[in-house]
Amino acid sequence: MVKMIDNEKIAKLLLSGAKMTDKHCKRCSYPLFEKDGKIFCINCGSETKEDIINEKIEFLYNKLKDTEDVEEIEKIGRAIETLKKIKSF
Ligand SMILES: [Zn+2]
Repeated sequence: MVKMIDNEKIAKLLLSGAKMTDKHCKRCSYPLFEKDGKIFCINCGSETKEDIINEKIEFLYNKLKDTEDVEEIEKIGRAIETLKKIKSF
């Protein structure tokens, strides 16, 4: 079931600096909004695949910064590579 979003919510979102994109949510086909470089659906709240992957890559880089264990570095490096491959699909 698709919930209807009222105009008031959209107006508030636009005032907060969000922009409506020309993309649509894959789950509910509602127009996607963009704010602070993040694309999201205001209807079902689903994040795009790319956002999720970017978040994970960011997390891994932070982990990489903190570790001095060679095995750990290798593992993280491979995980980042894998995520980057997925992202390019
Ligand atoms: Zn949606």
